[in-house]
Amino acid sequence: MSVIKAVVIFIIISLTTNLRSPNANIYYQIFILSYMQFSSKLIEEAVQAFASLPGIGKKTALRLVLHLINQDKQVTEQFTDAIRNMRRNILHCEVCYNISDQNVCTIAVIYGEIVV
Ligand SMILES: [Zn+2]
Repeated sequence: MSVIKAVVIFIIISLTTNLRSPNANIYYQIFILSYMQFSSKLIEEAVQAFASLPGIGKKTALRLVLHLINQDKQVTEQFTDAIRNMRRNILHCEVCYNISDQNVCTIAVIYGEIVV
């Protein structure tokens, strides 16, 4: 499949579909999965990022990206903020090495109070 033919098909789909309708995403998804031609470098990078997660293939990654595009920007930003904050601030407990928000987790504190 040549790139030109793929682009022509995409243009036909775009012209015959209301791009704000829920079906537009399905057509877009079918187009991308059929020809692996992304209309946006930003979408392609986001799909690659999701597809790097365990258990997430390219098809699922694209579905997630298109879902996020359809959300309000505020909802998507809350999603990305949650991941960014988690990654920046997560710690391992100094006592038991459990994943924690603090240097010493609540389990270690409670256990320390019982033992001491
Ligand atoms: Zn701990």
